[in-house]
Amino acid sequence: MKTILKTNITVREICDGFVYNELEGKGLFGLSGKLTIQPEYQRNYIYASDGGKKEIAVIGSILKGYPIGLIYFNKVSENNLEVLDGQQRITSLGRFITDKFAIKDANNMEQYFNGMAKDKQAKILETKLLIYECEGTESEIKEWFKTINIAGVPLNNQELLNAVYSGPFVTLGKEEFSNSQNANIQKWSAYISGSANRQDFLERALDWVSKGNIGDYMSHHRFDKNITELKKYFNSVIDWVSAIFIDVESEMRGLEWGRLYEQYHKKAYDPVKVSAEVQKLYADPYVKNRRGIFEYILGGSVDTKLLDVRVFDEATKKAVYTTQTAAAGKKEKSNCPHCAIGHDANKSKIWSFGEMDADHVAAWSKGGATTAKNCQMLCKTHNRAKGNR
Ligand SMILES: [Zn+2]
Repeated sequence: MKTILKTNITVREICDGFVYNELEGKGLFGLSGKLTIQPEYQRNYIYASDGGKKEIAVIGSILKGYPIGLIYFNKVSENNLEVLDGQQRITSLGRFITDKFAIKDANNMEQYFNGMAKDKQAKILETKLLIYECEGTESEIKEWFKTINIAGVPLNNQELLNAVYSGPFVTLGKEEFSNSQNANIQKWSAYISGSANRQDFLERALDWVSKGNIGDYMSHHRFDKNITELKKYFNSVIDWVSAIFIDVESEMRGLEWGRLYEQYHKKAYDPVKVSAEVQKLYADPYVKNRRGIFEYILGGSVDTKLLDVRVFDEATKKAVYTTQTAAAGKKEKSNCPHCAIGHDANKSKIWSFGEMDADHVAAWSKGGATTAKNCQMLCKTHNRAKGNR
Protein backbone atom coordinates (compact mmCIF):
# COMPACT_ATOMS: atom_id res chain seq x y z
CA MET A 1 0.00 0.00 0.00
CA LYS A 2 1.25 3.49 -0.93
CA THR A 3 0.78 6.47 1.38
CA ILE A 4 1.57 10.13 0.71
CA LEU A 5 1.40 12.81 3.41
CA LYS A 6 -0.33 15.99 2.17
CA THR A 7 0.19 19.11 4.23
CA ASN A 8 -1.17 21.82 1.96
CA ILE A 9 -4.86 21.06 1.66
CA THR A 10 -6.92 23.78 3.35
CA VAL A 11 -10.27 23.69 5.07
CA ARG A 12 -11.58 25.87 2.21
CA GLU A 13 -10.64 23.21 -0.36
CA ILE A 14 -11.92 20.32 1.74
CA CYS A 15 -15.28 22.04 2.20
CA ASP A 16 -15.64 23.14 -1.44
CA GLY A 17 -18.90 21.61 -2.64
CA PHE A 18 -19.76 20.29 0.82
CA VAL A 19 -23.27 18.89 1.06
CA TYR A 20 -24.92 17.87 4.30
CA ASN A 21 -27.83 15.48 4.00
CA GLU A 22 -30.16 16.35 6.87
CA LEU A 23 -32.37 13.29 6.40
CA GLU A 24 -29.58 10.74 6.39
CA GLY A 25 -27.46 12.66 8.89
CA LYS A 26 -24.38 12.58 6.67
CA GLY A 27 -21.82 14.94 5.21
CA LEU A 28 -21.49 13.82 1.61
CA PHE A 29 -18.94 15.59 -0.61
CA GLY A 30 -15.96 17.94 -0.58
CA LEU A 31 -12.91 18.92 -2.67
CA SER A 32 -15.21 20.13 -5.48
CA GLY A 33 -16.97 16.79 -5.57
CA LYS A 34 -13.75 14.74 -5.75
CA LEU A 35 -14.01 13.67 -2.13
CA THR A 36 -16.68 11.31 -0.84
CA ILE A 37 -16.92 12.17 2.83
CA GLN A 38 -19.19 9.33 3.74
CA PRO A 39 -18.50 6.21 1.76
CA GLU A 40 -21.06 3.54 2.53
CA TYR A 41 -18.85 1.74 5.02
CA GLN A 42 -18.56 4.80 7.22
CA ARG A 43 -20.88 5.43 10.11
CA ASN A 44 -23.45 8.16 10.45
CA TYR A 45 -22.47 11.60 11.69
CA ILE A 46 -22.51 11.54 15.49
CA TYR A 47 -20.63 14.73 16.44
CA ALA A 48 -23.89 16.73 16.44
CA SER A 49 -25.38 14.59 19.22
CA ASP A 50 -24.92 15.43 22.89
CA GLY A 51 -25.71 19.11 22.19
CA GLY A 52 -23.03 19.31 19.51
CA LYS A 53 -20.15 19.53 22.00
CA LYS A 54 -17.83 17.60 19.70
CA GLU A 55 -18.46 19.63 16.55
CA ILE A 56 -18.11 22.87 18.50
CA ALA A 57 -14.81 21.58 19.89
CA VAL A 58 -13.49 20.95 16.35
CA ILE A 59 -14.09 24.61 15.42
CA GLY A 60 -12.64 25.75 18.76
CA SER A 61 -9.43 23.82 18.05
CA ILE A 62 -9.07 25.35 14.59
CA LEU A 63 -9.58 28.89 15.93
CA LYS A 64 -6.94 28.31 18.59
CA GLY A 65 -4.55 26.88 16.02
CA TYR A 66 -4.56 23.41 17.58
CA PRO A 67 -4.22 20.42 15.29
CA ILE A 68 -7.37 18.36 14.78
CA GLY A 69 -5.44 15.19 14.11
CA LEU A 70 -4.50 13.14 11.10
CA ILE A 71 -7.04 12.55 8.38
CA TYR A 72 -6.86 9.58 6.03
CA PHE A 73 -8.09 9.47 2.44
CA ASN A 74 -8.34 6.42 0.26
CA LYS A 75 -7.42 7.21 -3.34
CA VAL A 76 -9.97 5.27 -5.37
CA SER A 77 -8.96 6.80 -8.72
CA GLU A 78 -7.33 9.99 -10.05
CA ASN A 79 -10.49 12.00 -9.44
CA ASN A 80 -12.05 10.15 -6.59
CA LEU A 81 -11.03 10.09 -2.95
CA GLU A 82 -12.89 8.64 0.01
CA VAL A 83 -12.48 9.60 3.66
CA LEU A 84 -11.19 6.60 5.58
CA ASP A 85 -10.77 8.40 8.87
CA GLY A 86 -11.75 11.97 9.67
CA GLN A 87 -15.29 11.92 8.42
CA GLN A 88 -16.72 13.33 11.66
CA ARG A 89 -14.18 16.17 11.76
CA ILE A 90 -14.63 17.12 8.10
CA THR A 91 -18.40 17.05 8.47
CA SER A 92 -18.10 19.35 11.51
CA LEU A 93 -16.07 21.83 9.40
CA GLY A 94 -18.49 21.62 6.48
CA ARG A 95 -21.52 22.03 8.68
CA PHE A 96 -20.04 25.05 10.41
CA ILE A 97 -19.08 26.80 7.19
CA THR A 98 -22.57 26.22 5.81
CA ASP A 99 -24.11 27.72 9.01
CA LYS A 100 -25.62 24.49 10.29
CA PHE A 101 -24.56 25.26 13.86
CA ALA A 102 -23.13 28.12 15.89
CA ILE A 103 -20.28 28.44 18.36
CA LYS A 104 -20.08 30.77 21.36
CA ASP A 105 -17.91 33.89 20.99
CA ALA A 106 -15.85 35.59 23.75
CA ASN A 107 -19.04 37.25 25.10
CA ASN A 108 -20.85 33.93 25.17
CA MET A 109 -23.01 34.96 22.19
CA GLU A 110 -24.02 32.48 19.53
CA GLN A 111 -21.99 33.01 16.43
CA TYR A 112 -22.55 31.50 13.01
CA PHE A 113 -19.79 31.36 10.43
CA ASN A 114 -21.61 33.85 8.22
CA GLY A 115 -21.62 36.47 10.98
CA MET A 116 -17.96 36.11 11.99
CA ALA A 117 -15.31 38.74 11.44
CA LYS A 118 -13.58 38.26 8.06
CA ASP A 119 -10.20 37.56 9.65
CA LYS A 120 -11.67 34.78 11.75
CA GLN A 121 -13.43 33.30 8.74
CA ALA A 122 -10.14 33.38 6.86
CA LYS A 123 -8.31 31.74 9.75
CA ILE A 124 -10.68 28.80 9.56
CA LEU A 125 -10.72 28.56 5.76
CA GLU A 126 -6.94 28.80 5.36
CA THR A 127 -6.12 26.25 8.05
CA LYS A 128 -4.11 23.41 6.55
CA LEU A 129 -4.96 19.87 7.46
CA LEU A 130 -2.66 16.89 7.77
CA ILE A 131 -3.87 14.29 5.35
CA TYR A 132 -2.55 10.86 4.43
CA GLU A 133 -3.58 9.74 0.97
CA CYS A 134 -3.48 5.98 0.70
CA GLU A 135 -3.62 3.77 -2.32
CA GLY A 136 -4.03 0.01 -2.06
CA THR A 137 -6.24 -2.97 -2.64
CA GLU A 138 -9.64 -3.08 -1.04
CA SER A 139 -8.59 -5.68 1.51
CA GLU A 140 -5.40 -3.78 2.40
CA ILE A 141 -7.37 -0.60 2.94
CA LYS A 142 -10.00 -2.30 5.01
CA GLU A 143 -7.57 -4.24 7.15
CA TRP A 144 -5.75 -1.03 7.80
CA PHE A 145 -8.94 0.91 8.45
CA LYS A 146 -9.66 -1.56 11.24
CA THR A 147 -6.37 -0.66 12.87
CA ILE A 148 -6.30 3.15 12.47
CA ASN A 149 -9.59 3.62 14.31
CA ILE A 150 -8.00 6.44 16.27
CA ALA A 151 -9.41 9.93 16.52
CA GLY A 152 -12.60 10.90 18.25
CA VAL A 153 -15.16 8.34 19.31
CA PRO A 154 -13.75 4.88 18.57
CA LEU A 155 -15.73 2.74 16.17
CA ASN A 156 -17.71 0.06 17.90
CA ASN A 157 -17.86 -3.56 16.75
CA GLN A 158 -20.77 -3.20 14.38
CA GLU A 159 -19.36 -0.03 12.82
CA LEU A 160 -16.14 -1.93 12.14
CA LEU A 161 -18.03 -4.86 10.64
CA ASN A 162 -20.00 -2.45 8.43
CA ALA A 163 -16.67 -1.10 7.19
CA VAL A 164 -15.17 -4.51 6.60
CA TYR A 165 -18.21 -5.97 4.82
CA SER A 166 -19.32 -2.82 3.01
CA GLY A 167 -21.58 -3.35 0.03
CA PRO A 168 -25.23 -3.35 -1.00
CA PHE A 169 -26.28 -5.55 1.92
CA VAL A 170 -24.85 -3.18 4.56
CA THR A 171 -26.34 -0.19 2.75
CA LEU A 172 -29.82 -1.74 2.78
CA GLY A 173 -29.40 -2.93 6.36
CA LYS A 174 -28.47 0.57 7.49
CA GLU A 175 -31.43 2.09 5.66
CA GLU A 176 -33.76 -0.17 7.62
CA PHE A 177 -32.10 -0.42 11.03
CA SER A 178 -29.76 2.58 11.40
CA ASN A 179 -32.07 5.36 10.34
CA SER A 180 -33.39 7.19 13.37
CA GLN A 181 -36.17 8.65 11.17
CA ASN A 182 -37.63 5.14 10.83
CA ALA A 183 -40.87 5.21 12.83
CA ASN A 184 -40.35 1.59 13.92
CA ILE A 185 -37.29 2.47 16.00
CA GLN A 186 -39.60 3.74 18.75
CA LYS A 187 -41.44 0.40 18.90
CA TRP A 188 -38.22 -1.62 18.71
CA SER A 189 -36.70 0.40 21.56
CA ALA A 190 -38.99 -1.42 23.96
CA TYR A 191 -36.94 -4.58 23.35
CA ILE A 192 -33.56 -3.37 22.12
CA SER A 193 -31.22 -1.01 23.91
CA GLY A 194 -28.79 1.39 22.30
CA SER A 195 -29.07 3.82 19.41
CA ALA A 196 -29.88 3.40 15.76
CA ASN A 197 -27.07 5.79 14.84
CA ARG A 198 -24.46 3.65 16.55
CA GLN A 199 -25.78 0.53 14.75
CA ASP A 200 -27.19 -1.17 17.83
CA PHE A 201 -30.44 -2.13 16.08
CA LEU A 202 -28.68 -3.45 13.00
CA GLU A 203 -26.34 -5.40 15.27
CA ARG A 204 -29.26 -7.04 17.12
CA ALA A 205 -31.06 -7.89 13.88
CA LEU A 206 -27.89 -9.53 12.53
CA ASP A 207 -27.16 -11.23 15.84
CA TRP A 208 -30.60 -12.81 15.92
CA VAL A 209 -30.73 -14.03 12.33
CA SER A 210 -27.15 -15.35 12.47
CA LYS A 211 -27.52 -16.92 15.95
CA GLY A 212 -24.54 -14.89 17.11
CA ASN A 213 -22.29 -15.30 14.04
CA ILE A 214 -22.59 -11.76 12.71
CA GLY A 215 -19.28 -11.65 10.86
CA ASP A 216 -19.93 -14.91 9.00
CA TYR A 217 -23.42 -13.85 8.09
CA MET A 218 -22.28 -10.47 6.77
CA SER A 219 -19.50 -12.02 4.77
CA HIS A 220 -21.89 -14.56 3.25
CA HIS A 221 -24.55 -11.98 2.31
CA ARG A 222 -22.21 -9.13 1.53
CA PHE A 223 -23.25 -8.72 -2.11
CA ASP A 224 -26.94 -9.54 -1.67
CA LYS A 225 -29.22 -6.91 -3.11
CA ASN A 226 -31.93 -7.52 -0.52
CA ILE A 227 -32.24 -7.95 3.23
CA THR A 228 -35.46 -9.98 3.10
CA GLU A 229 -34.30 -12.76 5.39
CA LEU A 230 -32.83 -10.32 7.93
CA LYS A 231 -36.03 -8.25 8.09
CA LYS A 232 -38.32 -11.25 8.19
CA TYR A 233 -36.49 -12.91 11.04
CA PHE A 234 -36.21 -9.69 13.00
CA ASN A 235 -39.93 -9.00 12.66
CA SER A 236 -40.78 -12.57 13.69
CA VAL A 237 -38.89 -12.09 16.95
CA ILE A 238 -40.43 -8.67 17.67
CA ASP A 239 -43.97 -9.84 16.78
CA TRP A 240 -43.54 -12.91 18.95
CA VAL A 241 -42.41 -10.98 22.05
CA SER A 242 -45.04 -8.29 21.69
CA ALA A 243 -47.81 -10.87 21.26
CA ILE A 244 -46.89 -12.84 24.40
CA PHE A 245 -46.03 -9.95 26.70
CA ILE A 246 -48.77 -7.41 26.19
CA ASP A 247 -47.46 -4.99 28.82
CA VAL A 248 -44.18 -3.28 27.92
CA GLU A 249 -41.87 -3.17 30.94
CA SER A 250 -38.58 -1.28 30.97
CA GLU A 251 -36.75 -4.44 32.12
CA MET A 252 -37.56 -6.03 28.76
CA ARG A 253 -35.12 -3.77 26.96
CA GLY A 254 -31.91 -5.51 25.93
CA LEU A 255 -32.90 -9.07 26.86
CA GLU A 256 -31.70 -11.89 24.60
CA TRP A 257 -34.93 -12.04 22.64
CA GLY A 258 -33.35 -13.84 19.70
CA ARG A 259 -32.25 -16.75 21.89
CA LEU A 260 -35.57 -16.82 23.75
CA TYR A 261 -37.46 -16.85 20.45
CA GLU A 262 -35.42 -19.83 19.23
CA GLN A 263 -35.99 -21.66 22.49
CA TYR A 264 -39.68 -20.97 23.10
CA HIS A 265 -41.49 -19.80 19.96
CA LYS A 266 -43.07 -23.21 19.36
CA LYS A 267 -44.77 -23.20 22.76
CA ALA A 268 -48.23 -21.73 23.21
CA TYR A 269 -48.89 -18.99 25.77
CA ASP A 270 -52.03 -17.23 26.93
CA PRO A 271 -51.12 -13.52 26.89
CA VAL A 272 -53.77 -12.67 29.49
CA LYS A 273 -52.45 -15.27 31.95
CA VAL A 274 -48.88 -14.24 31.16
CA SER A 275 -49.74 -10.63 31.91
CA ALA A 276 -51.27 -11.57 35.27
CA GLU A 277 -48.16 -13.56 36.17
CA VAL A 278 -45.85 -10.71 35.17
CA GLN A 279 -47.82 -8.32 37.38
CA LYS A 280 -47.75 -10.77 40.29
CA LEU A 281 -43.98 -11.22 40.07
CA TYR A 282 -43.41 -7.47 39.72
CA ALA A 283 -45.33 -7.03 42.98
CA ASP A 284 -43.40 -9.79 44.79
CA PRO A 285 -40.81 -8.23 47.13
CA TYR A 286 -38.75 -11.45 47.11
CA VAL A 287 -37.99 -11.21 43.39
CA LYS A 288 -34.65 -9.43 43.14
CA ASN A 289 -34.06 -9.85 39.39
CA ARG A 290 -37.00 -8.49 37.43
CA ARG A 291 -35.17 -8.95 34.14
CA GLY A 292 -35.40 -12.69 34.74
CA ILE A 293 -39.21 -12.67 34.98
CA PHE A 294 -39.77 -13.03 31.23
CA GLU A 295 -37.56 -16.05 30.70
CA TYR A 296 -38.91 -17.56 33.93
CA ILE A 297 -42.46 -17.41 32.57
CA LEU A 298 -41.47 -18.60 29.09
CA GLY A 299 -39.80 -21.63 30.67
CA GLY A 300 -42.97 -22.61 32.54
CA SER A 301 -42.27 -20.78 35.85
CA VAL A 302 -39.90 -23.38 37.31
CA ASP A 303 -36.37 -21.98 37.22
CA THR A 304 -36.40 -19.65 40.22
CA LYS A 305 -32.65 -19.01 39.80
CA LEU A 306 -33.66 -16.59 37.04
CA LEU A 307 -35.50 -14.43 39.56
CA ASP A 308 -32.70 -14.36 42.11
CA VAL A 309 -35.20 -14.78 44.91
CA ARG A 310 -34.16 -12.97 48.04
CA VAL A 311 -32.43 -15.28 50.51
CA PHE A 312 -32.61 -15.45 54.28
CA ASP A 313 -30.46 -12.85 56.03
CA GLU A 314 -27.60 -13.82 58.36
CA ALA A 315 -29.49 -12.99 61.58
CA THR A 316 -32.40 -15.26 60.64
CA LYS A 317 -30.03 -18.08 59.64
CA LYS A 318 -28.06 -17.84 62.92
CA ALA A 319 -31.23 -17.78 65.05
CA VAL A 320 -32.65 -20.81 63.26
CA TYR A 321 -29.28 -22.61 63.49
CA THR A 322 -29.12 -22.05 67.25
CA THR A 323 -32.65 -23.34 67.97
CA GLN A 324 -32.29 -26.27 65.58
CA THR A 325 -28.88 -27.29 67.02
CA ALA A 326 -30.04 -27.10 70.65
CA ALA A 327 -33.10 -29.27 69.91
CA ALA A 328 -31.02 -31.80 67.96
CA GLY A 329 -28.41 -32.02 70.79
CA LYS A 330 -31.09 -33.03 73.30
CA LYS A 331 -32.28 -35.86 71.02
CA GLU A 332 -28.67 -36.84 70.18
CA LYS A 333 -29.53 -36.51 66.48
CA SER A 334 -27.93 -34.51 63.71
CA ASN A 335 -28.86 -30.85 63.49
CA CYS A 336 -29.53 -31.40 59.76
CA PRO A 337 -33.10 -32.82 59.74
CA HIS A 338 -32.35 -34.84 56.60
CA CYS A 339 -29.18 -36.40 58.06
CA ALA A 340 -31.10 -37.13 61.29
CA ILE A 341 -33.55 -39.48 59.57
CA GLY A 342 -30.78 -41.26 57.66
CA HIS A 343 -28.87 -44.39 58.65
CA ASP A 344 -25.28 -43.47 57.97
CA ALA A 345 -22.57 -42.00 60.22
CA ASN A 346 -24.00 -38.49 59.79
CA LYS A 347 -27.26 -39.31 61.56
CA SER A 348 -26.01 -37.80 64.82
CA LYS A 349 -23.52 -35.32 63.35
CA ILE A 350 -23.68 -31.73 64.61
CA TRP A 351 -22.70 -29.54 61.66
CA SER A 352 -21.09 -26.14 62.24
CA PHE A 353 -22.93 -23.04 61.03
CA GLY A 354 -20.52 -22.71 58.09
CA GLU A 355 -21.28 -26.26 56.96
CA MET A 356 -24.99 -25.53 56.56
CA ASP A 357 -27.24 -23.51 54.24
CA ALA A 358 -30.71 -22.03 54.70
CA ASP A 359 -33.66 -23.66 52.95
CA HIS A 360 -37.28 -22.66 52.42
CA VAL A 361 -39.45 -25.33 54.12
CA ALA A 362 -42.37 -24.42 51.86
CA ALA A 363 -40.79 -23.55 48.53
CA TRP A 364 -40.90 -19.89 47.51
CA SER A 365 -42.41 -20.86 44.18
CA LYS A 366 -45.33 -22.46 46.06
CA GLY A 367 -45.92 -19.37 48.16
CA GLY A 368 -43.43 -20.04 50.98
CA ALA A 369 -42.21 -16.82 52.58
CA THR A 370 -38.62 -15.83 53.25
CA THR A 371 -39.13 -15.58 57.03
CA ALA A 372 -37.67 -17.39 60.08
CA LYS A 373 -40.82 -19.50 60.36
CA ASN A 374 -40.26 -20.96 56.91
CA CYS A 375 -36.49 -21.37 57.32
CA GLN A 376 -34.61 -24.54 58.12
CA MET A 377 -30.87 -25.15 58.06
CA LEU A 378 -29.64 -28.15 56.06
CA CYS A 379 -26.13 -29.50 55.65
CA LYS A 380 -24.69 -28.30 52.32
CA THR A 381 -25.08 -31.72 50.69
CA HIS A 382 -28.76 -32.01 51.53
CA ASN A 383 -29.45 -28.40 50.63
CA ARG A 384 -27.92 -28.91 47.20
CA ALA A 385 -29.85 -32.13 46.73
CA LYS A 386 -33.09 -30.36 47.53
CA GLY A 387 -32.28 -27.85 44.79
CA ASN A 388 -33.39 -24.31 44.34
CA ARG A 389 -37.15 -24.59 44.69
ZN1 LIG B 1 -27.77 -33.40 55.92
